[in-house]
Amino acid sequence: MEKTYYEILGVPESATTEEIKRAYRELAMRHHPDKNPGDTSANDRFREIRQAFEVLVDPARRQKYDNYLKMKREGRLPHMQSSKSAEAVSANGGTPQKASVQRPGFPPRRGKDVDYELTISFKESYFGTEKTIKVSVPGPCRVCNGTGYDLSSFVVCPTCFGAGYVIQTVQTASGVQNKTITCPTCRGMGGNYLRKCARCKGTATDMYLEKIKVKIPAGVENGAIIKLTNKGGYGYFGGPRGDLNLKMKVEKDEEFWRVGNNLHTKIVISFVKAILGGRAKVKTLKGVETIPVPEFSTLGTELIVEGEGFPDPVTGERGDLIVEVNIDIPENLSDKEIEIIEKFAEMAGIDPMDPEVL
Ligand SMILES: [Zn+2]
Ligand SMILES: [Zn+2]
Repeated sequence: MEKTYYEILGVPESATTEEIKRAYRELAMRHHPDKNPGDTSANDRFREIRQAFEVLVDPARRQKYDNYLKMKREGRLPHMQSSKSAEAVSANGGTPQKASVQRPGFPPRRGKDVDYELTISFKESYFGTEKTIKVSVPGPCRVCNGTGYDLSSFVVCPTCFGAGYVIQTVQTASGVQNKTITCPTCRGMGGNYLRKCARCKGTATDMYLEKIKVKIPAGVENGAIIKLTNKGGYGYFGGPRGDLNLKMKVEKDEEFWRVGNNLHTKIVISFVKAILGGRAKVKTLKGVETIPVPEFSTLGTELIVEGEGFPDPVTGERGDLIVEVNIDIPENLSDKEIEIIEKFAEMAGIDPMDPEVL
C-alpha cells in the first residue's frame, strides 16, 4: 500500500500544524543528506519527508490532500493504482491478463512478439498434426504489475495528487479556457516511486510459462512461419498480447522428400519389368499402393500418382506423388539366363565388345 504523507512523518491524521513541524524537524535532522553522505536511501527518505511536509504544512494543500485520501479510501479514484489487483496476480502466480490496471504515466502497451522453433516429422507435415508446446513468454512483472517500481514506495504527487494532469486556466482572445495538461511535477506519473521493484530490478518484466495447443495444418513446409495472434508476450496496463511466431522445422525422411507441393519417393524394379512394363508396389505415406509401370521405363523415369502430394497452403490443391524409377540388374544369373541374353544381343546386333554401341 501507498504510504500516506502522515505515515511518512509519523503523525496522526488529526495532527496540528505544530505537531507536523516538530515531527518534520526531527526526521529531517536524522535523514539529512549532509549527515548521511553517500547513503542514497537516506537521500530518498529525506526527499520523501520534505515532500510530505510541504503539503501538510500548507492548510490549503493539506485540505486537498485529505480530500484525495478520502476519495481514494472510498474507491472513487478509478484511474489510480489498485495495489489489490497487483497482489492478486502475485499471489496466484497466474497470468497477468486481468491486471489491466490503468495508471497515469503508464499507458497501455502491446506485449512482445515471441519466436519459437517447432520441429515436426516429415509425416506430420504431410498429414498435419496437433502439438502441445511449452513456451516462456514475457509479460509484466508479477510483483510491480509492470511498472518496474516498488509499489509500496509510491508517494503521491504534491501537485496533482495522483491524477497525472492538472487543469490550467488560460486567457485567450475568446475568453477564459480550461486546458488539461500533463502534471509538470510528476510528468504524468501521479507521484514518484522511491524504490525499484525488488523482483524485476526495475526491468518491469517477468516470464510466464505457457502450455499452448497448436494445430499444424497439412502441407506445412520447412521454414514456414505460423503466426498465432495474441499468444505472445503479455501486454502492459491493459495493452493487447503480442503474437507467437512458430518457425516450423520439418525433419528429413529417408524414403520421402518434397519438391514444391510434390511428394517424391523411389522404387526399384528389375530390368525385365522396366522393359516389359507391368505393375509395381510403392510405399506411400498412407500405406502401400500398386501402380502401373509403363513399358520401356528407364532409370529416373518418373511415375506420377496425381493428387497424392502435399496440399497447397493457400489453395488446398494437392500436388502429386512422383515415383522415381531405379532399375535392378540381377547379379546371379544362371548359365541358361546368360545364354538367353547373349542370344538377345546377337538378335539385336549388339556386340558388347564394340565401344561404339551402348
Ligand atoms: Zn503530478
Ligand atoms: Zn517488478
